[in-house]
Amino acid sequence: MFVDSHCHLDRLSDQTHGGDIAATLAAARAAHVSQFLAVAVTLEEMPELASIARAHHDVAISAGLHPLHQSESEPSVADIKDAAEQYGAVAIGETGLDYHYQDSVPIEVQHERFKRHLIAAHELELPVIIHTREAKEETLALLREYSDPRVGGVLHCFTEDLAMAREAVRLGFYISLSGIITFRNAAPLRELARQLPLDRLLIETDSPYLAPVPHRGKPNEPAWVVQVSECIAKERGISVDEVAMQTTANFYRLFRAATPDAPEHVKEALAHSGLL
Ligand SMILES: [Zn+2]
Ligand SMILES: [Zn+2]
Repeated sequence: MFVDSHCHLDRLSDQTHGGDIAATLAAARAAHVSQFLAVAVTLEEMPELASIARAHHDVAISAGLHPLHQSESEPSVADIKDAAEQYGAVAIGETGLDYHYQDSVPIEVQHERFKRHLIAAHELELPVIIHTREAKEETLALLREYSDPRVGGVLHCFTEDLAMAREAVRLGFYISLSGIITFRNAAPLRELARQLPLDRLLIETDSPYLAPVPHRGKPNEPAWVVQVSECIAKERGISVDEVAMQTTANFYRLFRAATPDAPEHVKEALAHSGLL
């Protein structure tokens, strides 16, 4: 059993099973992917995400506004909380800081937006999904000041260094690895996959972006989270089953609100594993 802890199901490519969400999820389930977290990029897409979650018992959703999305208005803490509660989100995000493309949304706007998400997450006691790129110190500083260690969160699609990952883990966060770790030039990330504690790792596709080897260049889909697991297993010299089991347990430990809807066979396996 695998969990795709971060995908954008409402942004699938037409080339992915004809853009059909049900067919895409069916293909993933056939590859033993049994839980999906569909992550919000804008609050405007919440009704669509909620309708996907209603139609598919194994899809959970988050609520938030991406740091790089050019938005006409900035959601308040109350706006973020209302969206999360109204649509049944299990997490807040994706939020964070991205200095790689800072021309699109100015740094000051990103900071204020990130803070409001962290405050909303704290007040709702929901974990946060963090997008961070080339803003190591600033991301960690805001997490130290505003994140809630009781609920924590995840640094998703992680591409920064081991020191940052270790500090985030120390602050109570998980690190999610994507298909990028399969890329030829990603040796430092594979090193990170070996070094970090297995009970702090999550796996994701970030589909439709960042398809793993051997699908690189195609639009990504949740079934291919298996390749991320295989890469971690190979690097650590352990079985794919062990990576699958542990990252699934990590997912439900972090996103507690998703647990009641977990598939029965997953709940049973986790209950027996003692990993939760
Ligand atoms: Zn992201
Ligand atoms: Zn994303």
